[in-house]
Amino acid sequence: MSAIPAFNKALYAPLAEVDPEVQNIIDKETWRQYSGLELIASENLTSRATMEANGSILTNKYSEGLPNARYYGGNEWIDELEVLCQKRALQAFHLDPAKWGVNVQPYSGSTANFAALTALLQPQDRLMGLGLPDGGHLTHGYYTAKKKMTASSIYFQSLPYGLDPATQLIDYVALKSQAKLFKPQLLICGASAYPRDWDYAALRAIADEHGAFLMADIAHTSGLVAAGELADPFAYCDVVTTTTHKTLRGPRAGLIFFRKDSEKAKGLEKRVNDAVFPACQGGPHNNTIAGIATALLQASQPEWKAYAKQVIANARTLGEELVAQGYKLQTQGTDNHLVLWDLRPLGLTGSKLEKLCDLVGITINKNAVSGDASAQVPGGIRLGTSALTSRNMTEDDIRVVAGFLHRAVQIALVLQREAGSKLLKDFVRVAATVEEGKEGARLVRELRREVRVFARRWPVPGVDFASIKRPAGIEEDD
Ligand SMILES: *Cc1c(COP(=O)(O)O)cnc(C)c1O
Repeated sequence: MSAIPAFNKALYAPLAEVDPEVQNIIDKETWRQYSGLELIASENLTSRATMEANGSILTNKYSEGLPNARYYGGNEWIDELEVLCQKRALQAFHLDPAKWGVNVQPYSGSTANFAALTALLQPQDRLMGLGLPDGGHLTHGYYTAKKKMTASSIYFQSLPYGLDPATQLIDYVALKSQAKLFKPQLLICGASAYPRDWDYAALRAIADEHGAFLMADIAHTSGLVAAGELADPFAYCDVVTTTTHKTLRGPRAGLIFFRKDSEKAKGLEKRVNDAVFPACQGGPHNNTIAGIATALLQASQPEWKAYAKQVIANARTLGEELVAQGYKLQTQGTDNHLVLWDLRPLGLTGSKLEKLCDLVGITINKNAVSGDASAQVPGGIRLGTSALTSRNMTEDDIRVVAGFLHRAVQIALVLQREAGSKLLKDFVRVAATVEEGKEGARLVRELRREVRVFARRWPVPGVDFASIKRPAGIEEDD
């Protein structure tokens, strides 16, 4: 082998040697994931195999275009990879290749959605999606009184539909009459924070009244849909988009499925493919596509159904435990992987509980709950069980986690009292300082210790359980 010149030496050394600073950040984040409880509903723990594929040499390759129709040479193996990934995507969702096709190139859920809108609509055409405060996603047309917030409202006319305040379920009746006035060309369903399933037949009927396309964005639930544990959007929709890193447990990316067999679907294949590239993206991330293929293989195995069932059983258990403690959940339970916890009856904000949970090693996110006056001060939090289920937890373990959450809320109430104000900064100050006559900070430390001990009993894929040690820069006072 030829000698390596000095200007290329850095190409061959391991990360820890070449860049100890980045290595240390990775080590700290690894330690955080291992020592904490991950309850963010949009997150999951991808497999070691997916991470290997995602970190592979495939990152070097340019392959603009589609298999066997590329703008670059040297793509024989990339073509094989992308065709395999497409085949597995259709298999994982039990789709007939004569009736459905898929584009596996989107970089993420948001870009998949923008490409789908680009394929289905002309600029300034009309779309409807579930409103953000009711659990919808930014990319489904979100705007505020002052500002068009996302490409989906900047380049298109959008109108949100919402929940029935009495039941907190999608208000299909109101949606139907809104649609009569607005006459959407595209109806989007799917959500980021909705604990119940969808009535796709009802949505199809509303879309058909206006000759509109029906698109399901199953970013959150696709792993459960693949397992057959939720209603099947493919039976009714023209287009289905998803992320690959939420319940589907793959790398960070997106997929767009398009129907090929209906009158309405005529030409959709070309429109979707052209929208992804060249309209919205450049070269595909082939390392990511390899990771998607690996994740889809896993999602097609018989074990996948058991995983999905356990995710849902865990979410149900979490909901039941919180309700049993007298807390209020949106719809008082769940059909899927997440629960929405309404903190308003307690006089707490989502921001405060999120902050406190961060301090004790439980990762959650603040979330609007139905009827919130302001999206800026969310009155609740969102909790999901996908990641904990990937750490092998089952119902009994989730009961322990629910107990931690109950204590976190009680501590938040103590801190709020001791802070003597409703300001988040006073709350944070009190949580961090042990003071004479105040017990909040002591309770925070106690819970943090217990969460840590509990969390470290469970493996994390990609982490060497036997050799992991506390990295420089992480202080553990107690
Ligand atoms: C997460 C999510 C997206 C966006 O995915 P990114 O990969 O973050 O771009 C789109 N739609 C819904 C419903 C989501 O929950």
